[in-house]
Amino acid sequence: MDANLTRDDAYSDGNMLGGPLSEIFAVDLTGAVGRCAGCGLQGPVAQLRVYDRAPGLVARCPRCEQVVLRLVRGKDTAWLDLHGASALTIPLAPAP
Ligand SMILES: [Zn+2]
Repeated sequence: MDANLTRDDAYSDGNMLGGPLSEIFAVDLTGAVGRCAGCGLQGPVAQLRVYDRAPGLVARCPRCEQVVLRLVRGKDTAWLDLHGASALTIPLAPAP
């Protein structure tokens, strides 16, 4: 990481996770509501702060900055760590 960049000026919002996550999930998770395991904040995945300077993507809580989600795309695998999200509410089409 460039030492001149602080964490605050180097992130994107969670909407940028839409593309990478669409390769794994059939639904758009940027519209899901997650709960941070650190501080309990509930909010849209799209409001997470996403850092792409690690090998992969690291999404942090906008309030406490705990890591909520990590995604690393390898050559033929995706590694997804959700241990920082205590729950995800995912919008779906109504069940028949
Ligand atoms: Zn938090």
